[in-house]
This record gives sequence, structure tokens and C-alpha cells, in this order.
Amino acid sequence: MESIVEILKQNKISPSIQRVRILEFLRDNRIHPTADMVYKGLVDEMPTLSKTTVYNTLKLFVEKQILVGLTLFENEVRYEYNMEPHIHFKCTKCGKIYDLDRSFDFYKDEIIDGHKVEEHHVNLKGICSNCLKTEKNK
Ligand SMILES: [Zn+2]
Ligand SMILES: [Zn+2]
Repeated sequence: MESIVEILKQNKISPSIQRVRILEFLRDNRIHPTADMVYKGLVDEMPTLSKTTVYNTLKLFVEKQILVGLTLFENEVRYEYNMEPHIHFKCTKCGKIYDLDRSFDFYKDEIIDGHKVEEHHVNLKGICSNCLKTEKNK
């Protein structure tokens, strides 16, 4: 709780309870949620929360570079903590998006056909370990 408040203060955002809980949700649920998923995850404990507040708060966090907004697959914006580039894996069964623990520094600063690569994004799709387990147990 404290560190979240600190992050907000460092970015000159006043730490209202809704902002704190929204950022906590992102920290604790590393599932790259959409704004809608954040709203659904918090509305039970905070019935006064509105979708507009969630959207505006996420937008503010992205502007302050606390979060990144990613359009990974389809046209849906997913949110996650700002960190080093990493590989994303989307499960075609449950729709969860995982961060894969494998670095991929290839192409970085390389010149390909005269173009200088500065960043790259790798998005993989498949069936996640959880869904594979459930399939086997059927
Ligand atoms: Zn899955
Ligand atoms: Zn990620």
C-alpha cells in the first residue's frame, strides 16, 4: 500500500483511494487487464467507482509512464506496469496474456536493410500451461 502511494506522490498524482486501488490491481494482477477488467475487478469493493474514472485514471498513469498501454492482439488496449520489453504470450483458450521469462535482445540496434532497429515487440499465441493441464485431465 505504502509503495503505491509513494509512486503516485513521486509522479505528483494525489493518492485518492480509487487511484491507489487501481494501481494496486495492476501490480497484483499481472494479466494485462483491459480497462473493463480493472473496473469489474474493483467495482464490488468500491461501488462508487465508475468506468469513466477507471479509463481516466489508466490514461493518467500511462501519461506519467507508470503503466504502459499495449495493443497486443486485436484492437484492445491492455495495461501493465512499465518495464523492460518482453515477450507476450496470449492463450487462445482463456484469453490470458502472459509475460514470458526469456530475454530477446536480438535485432536490438541492428541495421536491417539499412533500417536501424530501436525496439521490437514479440507476441506469441497458443495454449497456456493452465489450459493444457485442464485438457489433459478431461
Ligand atoms: Zn489458457
Ligand atoms: Zn507484459
